[in-house]
Amino acid sequence: MGAVLRRHATGLAAACALAAAMSACAGPQAKPVGQTLASTTSTSPSTTSTAPTTSDVPTTTAPSTSSSLPAAPTTTTAKAVPATGRVVVIDPGHNGGNATHTAEINRQVPAGRGRTKPCNTTGTATQTGYPEHAFAWDLAVRLREILTARGVKVIMTRADNAGVGPCVDRRAAIGNESGAAAVVSLHADGSTAAGAHGFHLAHSSPPLNTAQGEPSLHLARAVRDKLVAAGFPTSNYAGKDGLSARDDLAGLNLTERPTVLVECGNMRDANEAATLSSPAGRQRYAEGIANGILGFLG
Ligand SMILES: [Zn+2]
Repeated sequence: MGAVLRRHATGLAAACALAAAMSACAGPQAKPVGQTLASTTSTSPSTTSTAPTTSDVPTTTAPSTSSSLPAAPTTTTAKAVPATGRVVVIDPGHNGGNATHTAEINRQVPAGRGRTKPCNTTGTATQTGYPEHAFAWDLAVRLREILTARGVKVIMTRADNAGVGPCVDRRAAIGNESGAAAVVSLHADGSTAAGAHGFHLAHSSPPLNTAQGEPSLHLARAVRDKLVAAGFPTSNYAGKDGLSARDDLAGLNLTERPTVLVECGNMRDANEAATLSSPAGRQRYAEGIANGILGFLG
């Protein structure tokens, strides 16, 4: 895989799939662009807070029962709607403020397997300047909406797209501390290899704990299959059949929950960039990923 590592003028590793850590894709410095997020629905203040945000499970999803009957065990509802009440951590890669806080994001943090990596990176961008961090945030919001509507309790690793970090080790800790049933990190790639396109899902390999083994592979296959069903091609340059075994991504190395990192597509491929840059394209990614997660939660 090192053979396809690309470096940009910034001197930072560009290919997100080959970056050094979860959320560590390092493409060109994100430049201010006229493009705005299609779905900036967050009302959170623009702070650099690293506290995860939660999206509470609606309390009205359970059908009410006749008061003349004994109260049904709560497990009845949970069994009928398996996703209800389950915790899913969504980790939108990078952050909009990273590019202007290089000292903070370049700080070395534990990356697993005895290594260290930069706290975070700026991410890549399309040729027309649509940044990966904006893509990841917008996709995360769409994914959160779909999962929350299905009764899933969603926790995000960052509150908005105007802050810095959090560091990759902190992102992993948020997943671990939540006891999440699934952790999904959202990225898009920046390979400059000619014709490189398609999505792939990175998983920790060799696994460092039970969760990194079959549970993470199961999650990866579930999301892969639903992205294929949504019409997205698997990568023709990274991994195999849409899955990529990695030992160098901090978030994957440090996780203790079923975790995958989704590289939705290659932002440097003109055709794929058009999809990644469009609200309709991101909604299609969100629906495919959500269906995979919901199938995994089963
Ligand atoms: Zn990335």
